[in-house]
This record gives sequence, structure tokens and C-alpha cells, in this order.
Amino acid sequence: PLTTADLIEDHRICVCVRTRPLNKKELTMKDLDVITIPSKDVVMVHEPKQKVDLTRYLENQTFRFDYAFDDTSTNEMVYRFTARPLVETIFERGMATCFAYGQTGSGKTHTMGGDFSGKNQDCSKGVYALAARDVFLMLKKANYKKLDLQVYATFFEIYSGKVFDLLNRKTKLRVLEDGKQQVQVVGLQERDVKCTEDVLKLIEMGNSCRTSGQTSANAHSSRSHAVFQIILRRRGKMHGKFSLIDLAGNERGADTSSADRQTRLEGAEINKSLLALKECIRALGRNKPHTPFRASKLTQVLRDSFIGENSRTCMIATISPGMASCENTLNTLRYANRYG
Ligand code: ADP
Ligand code: MG
Repeated sequence: PLTTADLIEDHRICVCVRTRPLNKKELTMKDLDVITIPSKDVVMVHEPKQKVDLTRYLENQTFRFDYAFDDTSTNEMVYRFTARPLVETIFERGMATCFAYGQTGSGKTHTMGGDFSGKNQDCSKGVYALAARDVFLMLKKANYKKLDLQVYATFFEIYSGKVFDLLNRKTKLRVLEDGKQQVQVVGLQERDVKCTEDVLKLIEMGNSCRTSGQTSANAHSSRSHAVFQIILRRRGKMHGKFSLIDLAGNERGADTSSADRQTRLEGAEINKSLLALKECIRALGRNKPHTPFRASKLTQVLRDSFIGENSRTCMIATISPGMASCENTLNTLRYANRYG
């Protein structure tokens, strides 16, 4: 049988969509589910309650992806088909990147960071932690063991075009590009990690740092990109890097009419970075020589992940199933849809 790695072999990019169940708030508002996933790679957006007739595919809004995960899927399943195959990449001297893209409240942090709803504060089941777990498992394999690789982690946030270290009291950091076109985040803490537990501690620490001092945790996190990286080094030299990114919410409609200047500027910066990201991912897929990574801080910081022979990316587009979110959902699906 084919393994997931086989399935996406030769694909430098994998794009999938994940929907979630209607939440309490949506149910209270009597919002209705407008999403159907009729097969493992198709997402349909349709009228609520309408009995979905699969022969009328084209009359509904239908999108095809590498994988589509319905509201019964678990983080572990999503991980297995998206980030999991990229763990090998960093052992083979490559650069791997995994993005969660979608509107605020659609499940990006739940997918990447873990379950932080109510009393549940479990980061062990998010993609960050699952990737770390598999990195440590791979290290034990004979062919990698002999390489004597060291594992490090970084965790930072990009907010309004500025970089803040989540492992060092949110210190603001400078981004420098040297003559050899290497991009450096000056002074970024790279923590030595020996096991999954070490990584979980750093994720917790970074998460609490991310939200501290903010009036509303979600309001802040929805406007910043969080970047968690697992770095492999061999005799001090970079061997491979896995960047896992919980992107800022992509809903921007409200910002443009907002009277608040700061909010508008932040919104414009987010739009800019998400557009730049799409361009960079496109360039990667088509082997274009010129990747517009300088267009935003996010893509600039990720420059080394968009170039090079052995770079691979996956995008997990998360969507809210309710009719009230329909417009944002369609925007997310259009952004992520690379067949359209
Ligand atoms: P985002 O980071 O995109 O703003 P969150 O991950 O914070 O969204 O999710 C919003 C809420 O929905 C949270 O309470 C989260 O626990 C819940 N949620 C998200 N995805 C799922 C899912 N697949 N299953 C169950 N609950 C989910
Ligand atoms: Mg979030």
C-alpha cells in the first residue's frame, strides 16, 4: 500500500481543508451548517438544509484539495496527512513549512497549538507537539542516529510587521539580511530540546507569553502570526528546519471601514503578508526563480524555506461551517484552492 509520503512524493505543496463542528455560539444563534465533504478531497458550500445532490456538483460551490477533513476528524488525522510527511524532509537536509490559514474562530490554534477551550489546556495534541514527537522518534532510527543531530526550538510572533520572541518575554527583535541574502532574526532564542516534554514546556511558555497583557487573548492572537520552529543542527550547522505557523485571521472586511487607524494599519499589514505568502508558495510550486519574499516580514523571515531544492510546504485551511461565516469561508477556499 502507498504511504502518505508516497502519495505526496513529487508534490512540494500539499493543501488541505478542515471544517469543525458548529460551536455553542453558532448553535445558539441557530446558524446552520453549509459545508459538506462528499469525498476525501472535495469541499462543497451550499444552501443550508438543502439535501446535497452529488449529481449537481457544479451548481454548488465545489472545491478540490489534496485532502478535505470533515468535522469528525482529529488533530492526529489532520497531522498524519499534512505535517507528518514533512518530518522526513528536515532529516534529509530540507526545509519544511506548515501553515494554518483561515478566519478567526475556524480552528487554526486548535489544529496547530492544541486544545485550549475552557478548562482544557492541552497542547500535546496539536500539530506543533505531534511534529516534535515524531522528530524525536526519527532521531532514534539508525540512519539518523549516526548523524548525531541536535534539536532546537524557537517560538516567535509577527505582529504588525514586527517580530517578538515568545521564549524571551516578548523581546522585540530585528530582522537582518546579510550580503549573502541570508535572513537572520537577531537574538532569537533557540532552545535546546531533548524530548517531547521539553517542547511542550516551551509551547506552554510561548502561548502564555503570547496572550499576556492583552485585554482579549483571541483579539490579539487573531492579528498576529505565530511561528514555531524545530531546527536540526549537525555540529552546529543547520541541517533542516520545520516551521509551523498559526497565521493571523484572514477576515479583514470589518477593518477597512474601521475608524481606528491602528486597526486599519494592522489589517493592511495582515492582508499584505497573506498575499505575499500566497505568491511565495506559488513560486515554490512552479520553480520560479524570483520569489517575492521581501514583500512582508512573514515571508522575509521564512525566506530560506521558500528557496532551495528540498523545500516542502503544506497548508491547512480551516473553515467555520456556519452560514454566517459563508463569505469568509469562500474567501479561504479560494485562497487555498490551487486548482481553480
Ligand atoms: P482560531 O485560532 O482559528 O481563531 P480556535 O482554534 O481558537 O480558532 O478555535 C475556536 C474555537 O473552536 C475554540 O474554542 C476551539 O476549541 C474550537 N474548535 C476549533 N476547531 C475545533 C475542532 N476541530 N473540533 C472541536 N472544536 C474546535
Ligand atoms: Mg487562534
